[in-house]
Amino acid sequence: MPATRDYYEVLGVDKSADADEIKRAYRRLAMKYHPDRNPDDAEAEAKFKECAEAYEVLSDESKKKIYDQYGHEGLRGRGAAAHDFSRMNVDDIFSMFNDIFGGGGGGGFGGMGGRGQARQRVARGYDLETEVELDLKDVLQGCSRDVEITRLDVCQTCAGSGAKPGTEPETCTTCEGRGKVQQAGLGGMFRMVTACPACRGRGKVIKDKCSTCHGKGRSPKKRTLSVKIPPGIQDGQAVRVAGEGEPPRPDISPTGEGVRGDLHVVARIKDHPVFEREGDHLLLEMPISFTQATLGARVDVPTLEESRQLDIPRGTQYGAIFRIDGAGLPNLRSGRRGDLVVIVKIETPKKLSAKQEELLRAFAETEDKHVNPESHGFWKKMTDFLGGS
Ligand SMILES: [Zn+2]
Ligand SMILES: [Zn+2]
Repeated sequence: MPATRDYYEVLGVDKSADADEIKRAYRRLAMKYHPDRNPDDAEAEAKFKECAEAYEVLSDESKKKIYDQYGHEGLRGRGAAAHDFSRMNVDDIFSMFNDIFGGGGGGGFGGMGGRGQARQRVARGYDLETEVELDLKDVLQGCSRDVEITRLDVCQTCAGSGAKPGTEPETCTTCEGRGKVQQAGLGGMFRMVTACPACRGRGKVIKDKCSTCHGKGRSPKKRTLSVKIPPGIQDGQAVRVAGEGEPPRPDISPTGEGVRGDLHVVARIKDHPVFEREGDHLLLEMPISFTQATLGARVDVPTLEESRQLDIPRGTQYGAIFRIDGAGLPNLRSGRRGDLVVIVKIETPKKLSAKQEELLRAFAETEDKHVNPESHGFWKKMTDFLGGS
């Protein structure tokens, strides 16, 4: 598919996104659109490949630079265009960026075992990522959320073998079950060991495929789980739920034996209509009247909990800042609450009663400063003047 869509748009990230954000966005989308998770869905496969293309460019510093400056054309012109993923096998694309899908061995083998012991190699599955939307009250108190994920689990029909129940996968004749073959590389100068193309590295071939998983040994399964979100979480931070990712790949561990990947639940925090968050502090722009500012007042200030009283001293200026200690958000680590920072806005009245106008004019006279004449009187005089001439 000729990707003419903007790469940033494809990954749903800002142009200013850093390498980490780009990586995370790609990981999320690749897991979402992975064809194994969306069987017989051509659109998902196209999206999966489009994301891979965008990621290949945006994750490569020099390609990204060219793209930022000259766009798609620039990449082609400089021979820096991404692979033609539309012609590539999904599994190959997946393994191209293997390292970003799981911890440890990147969905392959992860090192386990303590210090001093020989490191035990344990098969490990891919990590998954999902998002939850939270508001500031959830951040204040912490909450628990039900999240639904679709992950590839060991196929229940064939117990992961990929073979029709009652049949067994047979040893691959090409690699004699080793899963690897030697190939001459670079004009026969040296030999390379690669995954066996006949059995895709599994060492076994399946004659009668399981009808549930079509021989893959894994099938998509929905799972809902309740995730605890701790108080004080920041936008973009993730809660890691260990062992809720996928089981190891079937070519490594057909039965799923080994360690599952993790599930990362990323917090997305909605904007609040009144408060703005800054770290653990909350900012509030608070309107007060000019008489309150001038004479001082005790005002009610909203917080995320019950409202609090704040003394505004006489002669408070526009933009003055007051802090209410501990009325902000808890710190994720220490639990210590931040402050509520109140920024004063002084409102000028737009409408005055006759009495108020009279008093203010009397006040203005004491100031010895020029003010406009009373409006209706002004216009009356103006009309008289114009009519009189
Ligand atoms: Zn199966
Ligand atoms: Zn083979």
